[in-house]
Amino acid sequence: MKLLRPVKINLADVDVPRIVQPELLYHFPIPPALHRLNPRLLLGKRWWNKTRKAAYRSNRGFCQACGVSGRLDAHERYELDFKKLIATYQDAVPLCRNCHMYIHWLSCPLHRKVGILKKGNAILLNAGLPVAKTKMDSLQTVYVHEQVFVQYTTEFRRNFWSPDWKLDLTVLKLNKSKFRKHPERERLIL
Ligand SMILES: [Zn+2]
Ligand SMILES: [Zn+2]
Repeated sequence: MKLLRPVKINLADVDVPRIVQPELLYHFPIPPALHRLNPRLLLGKRWWNKTRKAAYRSNRGFCQACGVSGRLDAHERYELDFKKLIATYQDAVPLCRNCHMYIHWLSCPLHRKVGILKKGNAILLNAGLPVAKTKMDSLQTVYVHEQVFVQYTTEFRRNFWSPDWKLDLTVLKLNKSKFRKHPERERLIL
């Protein structure tokens, strides 16, 4: 039997299917109380650069919500417990600018709001997922359908703006002693 010469395969060329999850668009932005207390600020630029690049690679350079390629942002994904007021960091997911702004709709510039809503809603509709006239309506309506999100409808308005949110970063396995003297240590779960 004649042995074939080994062929070098560049993994980037292999057609691994990309993940497309339009439901990512239902994500909540982080509660305002944690705007100045997120992993990006806590852990610095070097950590963030590593994390965001890994996120882009994780879906081969495609947006994980709509599947387009091109310029990507990394969105920090949290699980929000509206009863205990704890935001648990999960990971960073690659999103195109439009999808990312749809999630951070509240803070996107007024002149872009309509366009951002239109594009995000079109992606959801295309995937057979429910949308409503405004992002707020949409969040409230949609979350009723998903049992795990039911809590948002009743407690969202009251608790989203609370100053008492805590940040759970246990998934990152950080060195606790490094944060012993952090001014907001009591709001960090490490
Ligand atoms: Zn997208
Ligand atoms: Zn984001």
